[in-house]
Amino acid sequence: ALQCGIVGLPNVGKSTLFNCLSNAKAQAANFPFCTIEPNVGVITVPDDRLKTLTELVNPQRVVPNTIEIVDIAGLVKGASKGEGLGNQFLGNIRTTNAIIHVLRCFDDGNVIHVDGSVDPIRDKEIIDTELQLKDLDTVVKRIQKVEKMAKTGGDKDAKKTYEILSAIKTHLESGKSARTAPLQVEDWEFVEDLSLLTSKPVLYVCNVDEAAVNTGNAYVERVKEAVKDENASVLVISAQIESEIAQLEDYDERQMFLDDLGLTESGVNKLIRAAYDLLDLATYFTAGVQEVRAWTIEKGYTAPQAAGVIHTDFEKGFIRAEVIKFADFVHYGSEAAVKEAGKLSVEGKTYVVQDGDIMHFRFNV
Ligand code: GDP
Repeated sequence: ALQCGIVGLPNVGKSTLFNCLSNAKAQAANFPFCTIEPNVGVITVPDDRLKTLTELVNPQRVVPNTIEIVDIAGLVKGASKGEGLGNQFLGNIRTTNAIIHVLRCFDDGNVIHVDGSVDPIRDKEIIDTELQLKDLDTVVKRIQKVEKMAKTGGDKDAKKTYEILSAIKTHLESGKSARTAPLQVEDWEFVEDLSLLTSKPVLYVCNVDEAAVNTGNAYVERVKEAVKDENASVLVISAQIESEIAQLEDYDERQMFLDDLGLTESGVNKLIRAAYDLLDLATYFTAGVQEVRAWTIEKGYTAPQAAGVIHTDFEKGFIRAEVIKFADFVHYGSEAAVKEAGKLSVEGKTYVVQDGDIMHFRFNV
């Protein structure tokens, strides 16, 4: 499953946010280290197209896309050296596909800050440094492995890998994250298996108090300035307001609460969408009378790869795919009508599945 990890120093509001995002209940308490176990929550990604297909097909069951959100607690200064169970937490980041970095941008004398004052830039740098040190470790180990082959043998790949690793190493050593390393897109394939922590896409969430939720505040401005070269998005949310919204069960009540604050949608909604965008994914659908379902794929997946998301046997035994464009399905109203109009296309192994395609796979078992 696709995972977003929530990182940040203790007491910045990670578990408060996590609780709003998932139905799983993590403990939010004014105490560093309160969320020791990595908590995983599953979240439905809202998609209007799925709603439309459901109305047209009227299936027995509807299955939306989901992403997993992992609350990664306990990252502190020295984590890369094993402080505060640091290594274990860093390991939890390795398996995630993207990172939500929560920064404390609210003042509140009652909430202890582990470093004694509110300073989101310093906080961000503490976390970044730990992740960078861990990556440096990983990169150096790999360099030692490929160095000999790169320098003696005629192995072209080893040479290339060595060059790329060296470039990343230099970049990390200058205090920057791997994601901004000066590499070509295709270079990353050589080091993909390392799952470098700082190569993952990141979204910064500024956790502000109620007064700043529409306007932001000086902390937010500093964060925006600090990350402007990172090609990362910055989202302003108040975890406290979100948890108040989450407690309102009635839809109208929530809407009124949002109106009062001058908000058009909840921060949690914005966050889910931003997290999904961050993963840079595409969605295809299957639409049968039993089940209408959204499937998540990486952009560029071929038809067999996309089929493999349903079941590995579908990929192995792939014969062909029948594809309907979403707009055609809506226009003609049913699969049968689309077929009749000659708008159903039959595609082979090399077809690259497009966002919104409605797929039907033919395969050998
Ligand atoms: P974590 O350690 O990063 O998971 O932080 P928590 O979510 O447990 O929050 C730590 C404390 O800060 C709790 O007492 C929260 O109620 C409080 N807190 C979280 N978000 C906000 C916020 O936006 N404003 C204020 N004033 N307090 C908050």
